Amino acid sequence: MQTDISNPRSTKQRVDDNKLGKRLIRETGRAIKDFNMIEDGDKVMVCLSGGKDSYSLLDILLTLKSRAPINFDIIAVNLDQKQPGFPADTLPNYLSGLGVPFHIETRDTYSIVTRVIPEGKTMCSLCSRLRRGILYRVASELGATKIALGHHRDDILGTFFLNLFYGGRMKAMPPKLMSDNGQHIVIRPLAYVPEKDLIAYAALKQFPIIPCNLCGSQENLKRKEVSRMIAEWDKKFPGRSWNVFGALSRVVPSHLMDSKLFDFMGLHTTGVADANGDRAFDGESFESPAPIEVGDEEDESDGVKGEESFTSLTRP
Ligand code: SF4
Repeated sequence: MQTDISNPRSTKQRVDDNKLGKRLIRETGRAIKDFNMIEDGDKVMVCLSGGKDSYSLLDILLTLKSRAPINFDIIAVNLDQKQPGFPADTLPNYLSGLGVPFHIETRDTYSIVTRVIPEGKTMCSLCSRLRRGILYRVASELGATKIALGHHRDDILGTFFLNLFYGGRMKAMPPKLMSDNGQHIVIRPLAYVPEKDLIAYAALKQFPIIPCNLCGSQENLKRKEVSRMIAEWDKKFPGRSWNVFGALSRVVPSHLMDSKLFDFMGLHTTGVADANGDRAFDGESFESPAPIEVGDEEDESDGVKGEESFTSLTRP
């Protein structure tokens, strides 16, 4: 038997690549369905920074669009913030090659941020605020009904721990939210995708990555610390971070302490036994909390279970 020397990837590697692609499509479709992120007739503005996450997001959404029986449009948008060394041709060349409608918005926020923020201080907060305002305006001008961001599972978990450790709040990063001005719906279709899968996918697809340190800003040290913590857990305690992630959608307000979520003041006896047992005194059982970890399992129907359920629920 002849060996195909034109493709140096081993058979196992190719099987793994195939599984990775299917898993990403399935999990993205599942998140879209679970939170009703995309509906018939939507125009989805995909924010493309040139990093692995946004390239993957665009790539996966294009695949879902090509297979979905609903109609939705995609437009890629990049904000050129005039950071020194930003390769202005990279994204237009990539997007033209794909044949995807796109818009490049050029705004020199870099000069504003470097002028306003003292040297050595982190610029990210102001930079993000400026970027957000510009992207909302562009979304209105383009008639986009949804704004899609490339945040993934680990971003959501990281934000949850940052709020918990440093903000004293139970708050994460929502998969779908309305903008502060009430004009836009922001969606995060990669909410169920762990970062390691996006790293592998970007390498597989050889996206023309634009470095994210062009602005020279220091990475947020606290975020770095929680990212490291999650990465260590994934090595030492497989399943732990998925359990925490799953907990975000299994909140029990009656067993927390927020009176705005549960009416402790108005809690009185009803005389009716709780069908779930004595929850006041029973010890907790920590068996099988049903983590929602994504799996490798193949789907007979082209491996796009999430896509199917997403499309069937959003069909008009
Ligand atoms: S890393 Fe640079 S470009 Fe990114 S948000 Fe911070 S200041 Fe802005």
